[in-house]
Amino acid sequence: MLCDALDAHNELLVLAIVEPSLFAAPDASWQHYDAWRGATCALADAIRARGGQFLLRVGEAVNVLDAMHQDHGFDALYAHEETGADITYRRDNAVRAWASKIGLVFTETPQTGVIRCLQDRDKRQPIVKARLFDTAPRLAPAHLPGTSIVSDSDTWPNWSELNRTCSVARSTDRSLQPVSETAAKATLTDFLHERGSGYSGGISSPNTAFTHGSRLSVHIAWGTLSMRTLHQQTLARIKAVQSIIKNPASGPATIAQAKIWSKSLRAFQSRLHWHDHFGQRMESAPWMEYKALSPAFRDIAYTDDGTNLAAWCEGRTGHPMVDASIRCLQTTGFLNFRMRAMLVTVACFGLGIHWRDLQHPYAQLFRDYDPGIHYPQVQMQAGVVGINTMRVYSPAKQLQDQDPNAVFVRRWLPELADAPLVDILAYDKRNGGYNSLPGYTNTIDLAPGNKAMKDQLYAIRGSDAGRAAAETVLLKHGSRQPSRERRYKPGKRKDVGKNSLATTQMDLDL
Ligand SMILES: Cc1cc2nc3c(=O)[nH]c(=O)nc-3n(C[C@H](O)[C@H](O)[C@H](O)COP(=O)(O)OP(=O)(O)OC[C@H]3O[C@@H](n4cnc5c(N)ncnc54)[C@H](O)[C@@H]3O)c2cc1C
Repeated sequence: MLCDALDAHNELLVLAIVEPSLFAAPDASWQHYDAWRGATCALADAIRARGGQFLLRVGEAVNVLDAMHQDHGFDALYAHEETGADITYRRDNAVRAWASKIGLVFTETPQTGVIRCLQDRDKRQPIVKARLFDTAPRLAPAHLPGTSIVSDSDTWPNWSELNRTCSVARSTDRSLQPVSETAAKATLTDFLHERGSGYSGGISSPNTAFTHGSRLSVHIAWGTLSMRTLHQQTLARIKAVQSIIKNPASGPATIAQAKIWSKSLRAFQSRLHWHDHFGQRMESAPWMEYKALSPAFRDIAYTDDGTNLAAWCEGRTGHPMVDASIRCLQTTGFLNFRMRAMLVTVACFGLGIHWRDLQHPYAQLFRDYDPGIHYPQVQMQAGVVGINTMRVYSPAKQLQDQDPNAVFVRRWLPELADAPLVDILAYDKRNGGYNSLPGYTNTIDLAPGNKAMKDQLYAIRGSDAGRAAAETVLLKHGSRQPSRERRYKPGKRKDVGKNSLATTQMDLDL
């Protein structure tokens, strides 16, 4: 975007706007403000170090831009294309309308493989290739021009001035991921050359995902790393590893190691494609925040009156893996994919919580909050997209499989510190499953909710209306990868299992 602007203009002012309405919105939290502020301050330093001009303004976008235009005048406006929540979608429309009204050229540049106004999903791939793979990343210029505008930046508001209702407390965790271009580059290099070999098989457990996962999500979400750079560096590393494998002189031990790397890097590469796949879904259906993607699933009955939602949000459901995951998120802002998915299915199936009531408090917990992934994923895990294998997680099984020594749950639930391992692992079988471990909250029974919700969803999937809706959703929003959603046969109840044609992201070792 910066380079595009410089190609056409001799003067440049970089403007960041703290928009109070965005940070007062129901999905916003301190984690997001802190991450974005960190990234923006680092950007401001980098602009000024190159002789460029950076300005911070506090106010609503159209008001700020209009005031600046009246005070100083400018003849072009550049922004990146953002696939955001409903509020930023409406903000972008308002800025576009304002620019058009005053005859200002407003250019939005794409950042990812998400294509705006895409008419036909089958035409997406060549555009993605040209954009992300065939075009080299543009380096930031060593020197930047300024403008004749003389104006001081506003000061950064405190979080408490921006938002008084967010329930996620400010975390004092010292290991919170810093978000800046420098941190992004270091994390990427570390992952591609040191940590990444353990990715395949290492991201399922919350004990290992913190080191085996790339941990690049905050950088992708807040724009401190471009998808183009990320894809191209990953591909270069895959090619380097492949050449080691193909070279017999490498020696068996080196080749074996390179094969492990190759598997992990390819698994990682596929996640990068998922990023844009889901972003495209949100871009093409910006109303997804409030309406199920599939019309067949818009009238589901949910039973929770707010009681279970409160227990879920506070991490006191009596299911150690669920409560530990929530408390981990409250402190670190991070959780691996499998646990994120488990939290949604426990809420929407077992606890009868409507996905719409869940999605905003859930979004508040993520430091890497990315609406283009978050809303489509919440709906997918809640089972209301209708084209994926339905998978309902048992938190008891996830505990046994992913945390068999109770390291994760003991870390985040101090009340379980002295409980015997055998009792923790069998928590759902103690006293008929209803009474939990001493000192730990009672366990909410998930079985009735799971059954009722599965019955409802399978009935819809098996109906004519459900099948027709699934076909439409597949056509417009389905993955074009041959092994994934397109092979799904809607309406089959027994569609989970090794021999199933349908796959979920879990089957891809997420
Ligand atoms: C309900 C739910 C909500 C989620 N919300 C977010 C969110 O707000 N922001 C976010 O970045 N991720 C989200 N994810 C996806 C995923 O859990 C995280 O991207 C991942 O855990 C971040 O860790 P990492 O950077 O080490 O990822 P890696 O596993 O190293 O993956 C690299 C990148 O690929 C992308 N990616 C990975 N998995 C997925 C996926 N399943 N779908 C789409 N893109 C993916 C992300 O950009 C990620 O940073 C969500 C998943 C679920 C189930």
